[in-house]
Amino acid sequence: MAIARNIVNIAIAAAEKEGAKRITKVNVVAGELRGIIPAQLIFCFGLMAENTIASGAYLDLEITPVMGKCRKCDEPFMVKDYRYVCPKCQGEDIQTLSGTELRVKDIEVE
Ligand SMILES: [Zn+2]
Repeated sequence: MAIARNIVNIAIAAAEKEGAKRITKVNVVAGELRGIIPAQLIFCFGLMAENTIASGAYLDLEITPVMGKCRKCDEPFMVKDYRYVCPKCQGEDIQTLSGTELRVKDIEVE
């Protein structure tokens, strides 16, 4: 719910800066580690957007995978199913490179 509110607020602020009257689409990038359930977020976004210029806007959600890097051999790799193990050396000292981001990529207005 808080995430949906943030997205709506960011989108409205951006639209107002452009002098837009209505937001038609909001493109959001979210890391897999955020644990976002798309249907739930889209539903909450719809509620939060009611009675604002974002009302009825389409929320496009792009989930980005988790990327890790082995601290032992520097191998970057995609983390699947929360398995933080290096595919090259089997090391378990992994740095998370991405997967926690959450941002409004852009918006479409009219
Ligand atoms: Zn490694």
